[in-house]
Amino acid sequence: MSAPTMQTVMDLIDGRTDELVALAQDLIRFPTINPPGEAYRPCAEYIGERLKKRGFTVEYVRGEGSPGDSDQYPRTNVIARWTGSEPGPCVHFNSHIDVVEVGAGWTVDPFGGEVKDSRVYGRGACDMKGGLAASIIAVEALIDSGLPLPGALEISGTVDEESGGYGGVAYLAERGWFSEPKVNHVIIPEPLNVDRVCIGHRGVWWAEIETKGRIAHGSMPFLGDSAIRHMGAVMEEFESKLYPAMAARHSDMPVVPEGARQSTMNINSIHGGQAEGFDGLPAPCVADSSRMIIDRRFLIEETLEDVKGEVKAILDGLAAQRHGFRYEMRDLFQVAPSMADRDGPVASTTAAAIETVLGRKAQFVCSPGTYDQKHVDRIGKLKDCIAYGPGVLDLAHQPDEWVGIDDMTNSAKVMARAAYDLLTRKRG
Ligand SMILES: [Zn+2]
Repeated sequence: MSAPTMQTVMDLIDGRTDELVALAQDLIRFPTINPPGEAYRPCAEYIGERLKKRGFTVEYVRGEGSPGDSDQYPRTNVIARWTGSEPGPCVHFNSHIDVVEVGAGWTVDPFGGEVKDSRVYGRGACDMKGGLAASIIAVEALIDSGLPLPGALEISGTVDEESGGYGGVAYLAERGWFSEPKVNHVIIPEPLNVDRVCIGHRGVWWAEIETKGRIAHGSMPFLGDSAIRHMGAVMEEFESKLYPAMAARHSDMPVVPEGARQSTMNINSIHGGQAEGFDGLPAPCVADSSRMIIDRRFLIEETLEDVKGEVKAILDGLAAQRHGFRYEMRDLFQVAPSMADRDGPVASTTAAAIETVLGRKAQFVCSPGTYDQKHVDRIGKLKDCIAYGPGVLDLAHQPDEWVGIDDMTNSAKVMARAAYDLLTRKRG
């Protein structure tokens, strides 16, 4: 028998396509819907039991006291570690096990794991149980190949990514699970397409802006002060000043799609005056309050302070010029942008593995929205983290979500190669 090589690993992965599909199907069949956080524990235990049999040390960590955690809906995370023959670095594959609600428009059973036209269908197939299955097959093939492996390989299945990751990666990162020296390189198999390395994401700031008015009879609006007209003035300033300023800012972040390569702001909602949802006739009143929720996405070149300051300056400007203008602004949520070095170990090694496996150059991208990399970066202080996985980004959260079987196999090969290179590379 000849000594094992990387080809041995590739052949093992090719020979395990059925197993990879079955694993993805099994994972999809756990309806891990978030909110509220269904079936987290059985799904985490399924992963843990499988890896325990392969010699992994398995730990379950409940995100106790995190948002949504209860005995009915425990935030159960699983972390499995396999230790190699000699000391060395640790490569960690982190996948979230939660999925978003099903929504309308499905033609297949969302939790059936149906296979059709070389695809596996189901909620979470693409985002991201296909990626989780591929990373497990990749790591198992590396171990089974008999290639000498220094260091350690870790696989985690974590919860609540879709609702911010506070009971999942954030909780674990606060307790040292995503920091050196325990972990050195992290790959998150989110669905960013099989030939792209995602090095980071933009920042987020959500805020509520409220303009104040004074109630009066609607037939004599001059006796009151309309909060809705004040909000209209805010909108005008946004249109004439803020949107053009944001559009003029361009980023070095390779965000996809192209339209997200600048600062953006969505006005998530706007309300004023009487509450909606009442079928009868309204009473004639001048609105004394109007509220707007903004979703501002910002670039690595901007600071959160500047982003907030820019909006505040517009509101303060109105307060100085416009008679009766009063406002309040409340922060709802914020995430700093994150970007790994594309020449760093995990990004460059994964890009090289893509080129070898697929025969084409890898593309470096950033995600328009955020994912758990933020917690690995900010809380774990671990910069060498990327997202790489099978699945077409645009299919995430859609009805009839699917993941391609070839993409899962190819990404498993890329992950195995990248992990091996990271474990055995010479350190400077
Ligand atoms: Zn995801």
